Amino acid sequence: MTEEKMRFEAEVSRLLDIVVHSLYSNKDIFLRELISNASDACDKLRYEAIAKPDLLAGDADFKVRLLTDDVRNVLTIADNGIGMNKEDLVDNLGTIANSGTAKFLDAVSKSDNAKDVDLIGQFGVGFYSAFMVANKVEVVSRKAGEDQAWKWSSDGKGEYTISEAEMEGRGTQITLHLTDDNKEFTDEHRLRHIVKTYSDHIGIPVVLMKGDGDETLNEASALWTRPKSEITDEQYKEFYKHTSHAFDDPWKTIHYQAEGAIEYTGLLYLPTMRPFDLYDPQRKGHLKLYVRKVFITEGADELLPPWLRFVSGVVDSQDLPLNVSREMLQDHPLLTKIKNGLTKKVLSELETAAKKDAEGYETFWENFGSVVKEGLYEDQTNRDRILKLARFRSTHGDGWTTLADYVERMKDGQKAIYYISGEDIDALKRSPQLEGFAAKGIEVLLLTDPVDEFWMPSVGQFEEKDFKSVTRGGADLNDIKSDDKEADKDDKKDDAASDASALIAAIKLALGNGVKDVRESDRLTSSACCLIADEMGMDLRMERLMKQHNRVDEISPRILEINPKHSLIKKLSDIATKDAKAPILNDAALLLLDQARILEGEALPDPVSFARRLDLVMEKGLGA
Ligand code: ADP
Ligand code: MG
Repeated sequence: MTEEKMRFEAEVSRLLDIVVHSLYSNKDIFLRELISNASDACDKLRYEAIAKPDLLAGDADFKVRLLTDDVRNVLTIADNGIGMNKEDLVDNLGTIANSGTAKFLDAVSKSDNAKDVDLIGQFGVGFYSAFMVANKVEVVSRKAGEDQAWKWSSDGKGEYTISEAEMEGRGTQITLHLTDDNKEFTDEHRLRHIVKTYSDHIGIPVVLMKGDGDETLNEASALWTRPKSEITDEQYKEFYKHTSHAFDDPWKTIHYQAEGAIEYTGLLYLPTMRPFDLYDPQRKGHLKLYVRKVFITEGADELLPPWLRFVSGVVDSQDLPLNVSREMLQDHPLLTKIKNGLTKKVLSELETAAKKDAEGYETFWENFGSVVKEGLYEDQTNRDRILKLARFRSTHGDGWTTLADYVERMKDGQKAIYYISGEDIDALKRSPQLEGFAAKGIEVLLLTDPVDEFWMPSVGQFEEKDFKSVTRGGADLNDIKSDDKEADKDDKKDDAASDASALIAAIKLALGNGVKDVRESDRLTSSACCLIADEMGMDLRMERLMKQHNRVDEISPRILEINPKHSLIKKLSDIATKDAKAPILNDAALLLLDQARILEGEALPDPVSFARRLDLVMEKGLGA
């Protein structure tokens, strides 16, 4: 019989190296991983068999069997699931398919050795965790509907072999040759305890084969079908890890029965940590659809809107036909109803959390807010509820605020909800455009998520108040009363005193088409100038973001605002009023524009000329 030698993918070798060499204290989890795979394999076959009942070949009694041999030091985990043929073995047990495992490797490469040890327990490295306890692993498998069985064998050191094998019936048998210090895993007390702890929720029996009669070690009824009162927190957590391939604990567990027009059971989890691939377009969600306990599909868009793609768990429908194919799901009216039901359920859970556990909710928002905000433009029906759930950074303190609280704090005469957007909170806080708002104590929202550029224009309002960018159009600051009445009066006096019209004319002449307009600013207090966008135009930073993503070709010319109260502008005004053609005005105009660009964090179109001009002006200042 021929035996083929193959090398593991490089990542697998690296992974195995970590698995074998880490003295991980909780090795028990290898059994959780192997039983989880066996149960998945049974789920897969059960689904395939709906269309092709022959695949079951008369054996519809799915189970996982554990066999021990304490003389040879061997533990075998066998299932009668879908099985693997030669290609499957190479694809599945020679590469890293599981994204969680890839994430594990990533995390390990960033940590020191001591931490690696714990990480394995958190992540679970799937099939490869077998090498934590065994120095040789043999997998014999026969795929349902095929005659030939195959054997995969490896000592976990860079290579594995594949050869033809004999096997009665379909399924997979995994034989672990335990190392001397792991003999304990042939002990039935030990196995009973591990299965109870980690695999009790598995929907098929996990049976310990004993000479004096077999013993089922787990509850063997699908967890979500059991009454809530009989399920412990630990069991919910273990099921979360199994079904979501997750390594954190769930933040919220929502287990409920929908009754009435449509009947289904939902066991939904909201994670604590953000999955690393949340923005990966290829990502498949981890919400599983069952029809009367038969697994149908996982991560279907038909089941959850994309803006809730972090929700995982199980939905088990009573009403869908068992022979519903994955293709049929697409526009199945029942599924649309379930989707609406799930969405409402999650929204109300979030609303409750926001009320009762503000801190926990804010952490959730920090992790998932940018995804939830996609719902603001994708989901018209739920927009208002999402807007109320949304949290924002603002110039009012360092924490998060709701829009309702913002509105509560609005000043007399303030009509709009002001915002500024950019990449970085701290840079935003220093923006010159905020000066006038700060002086009057007017709060401005600080937006830093790219998704903000999409929902802002489509939502437009909250409680009939327009959202307005502080980098766009007139600031209308004079209409808004600050808490400080004196400051308001000072404003008026200053305005009357300053006349920058001659300077403005000179700057316009110097800059030509480089700007759309030049005008006096009421939003600046300490800076000399800033750039703003046209009233009808796009917010400055949004436009820049769009340019980066190639959504617009050109940045449109901006408006340069100058601060008539600034001493430099006052002096320039005096010069311009006396002599509109004074040569300094041309250089000053160009320098002011470049300065405004720098304040915006934009690259200068001509840094060389800027430097030369600056040198000249400095020399003059030094009296040269
Ligand atoms: P994951 O279960 O997250 O996909 P694993 O490393 O645990 O990752 O398993 C890798 C793959 O090997 C599985 O996706 C599955 O295709 C295959 N596999 C593992 N165990 C079995 C089994 N008992 N029966 C059938 N296929 C299996
Ligand atoms: Mg697995």
